[in-house]
Amino acid sequence: MLLPALLAAQRRRLAEAGIDTASLDIRLLAGRVLGVDAAGLLAHDGPLGAAAAADITAMVDRRLAGEPVARILGDWEFWGLPFVLSPATLVPRPDTETLVEAVLDLVRGGAVPGAGPDGAGLTVVDLGTGSGAILVALLSELGAAEGLGVDLSEEALSTARLNAARNGVAGRSLFCRGSWLDAVTGPFSLVVSNPPYIESADIDGLAPEVARHDPRLALDGGADGLDAYRVIAAGAAARLVPGGVLALEIGWRQAVTVTEILADAGFAAITVRRDLAGHDRVVIGRRR
Ligand code: GLN
Repeated sequence: MLLPALLAAQRRRLAEAGIDTASLDIRLLAGRVLGVDAAGLLAHDGPLGAAAAADITAMVDRRLAGEPVARILGDWEFWGLPFVLSPATLVPRPDTETLVEAVLDLVRGGAVPGAGPDGAGLTVVDLGTGSGAILVALLSELGAAEGLGVDLSEEALSTARLNAARNGVAGRSLFCRGSWLDAVTGPFSLVVSNPPYIESADIDGLAPEVARHDPRLALDGGADGLDAYRVIAAGAAARLVPGGVLALEIGWRQAVTVTEILADAGFAAITVRRDLAGHDRVVIGRRR
């Protein structure tokens, strides 16, 4: 079979199953099997080996069974950087780039105590670091900053270490096991996190790509989805310097409640940032 015919047939299988990213998915999967990018795929109009055709078909079968492309590939891009995934890490979401952007604006604008615009003098603390996506993206932009990634999962920490190395920031980062801020003392001037924020009862109703393939530990925010925010706000209030910054990703309907939690814990100058879809996505507070 010729490659264009195989791609068209497999794309049709995905589209007919209601997968609206069918074209992108097939390009990523076939590109991986053949070891080429999108342009290479277009240029490749010759016959296809039976093994490659079988591999592509098998990947499409997995996709049709509800597995996200990122899990099939085993890696995914965030902030233009490559990240290895493991079953213990979320697939990094584009929404989370809103958090990275907000933090970069603060650091570069001189709004984080003791930090130069390139991150000199700064240790970024990332709670529930997972694949390390947020921390590695920040360190890749802030060439003089150091980072500390914390996670409950040893498997996630191994993955984060790998990603720090792959992206050239291993020498400026440290990863340690712990529950939020319990394992570290500070004082710090910047704490960031994308904590679990889905209400426990809602998890099974999420898309199968999320409910069945993202780690529950990274999604489950307790009965009202806000458990992690309460613990993080209390811990950060105790470990941040006065004026220190706490920046958190939130679920799009949580801006009001998370703002209240931060205010109650002793944070002021609380602001909310929206993602590209126009949803509230990040809450930032400053320790009084
Ligand atoms: N944004 C994720 C989702 O809705 C949730 C991640 C999280 O709980 N931090 O799929």
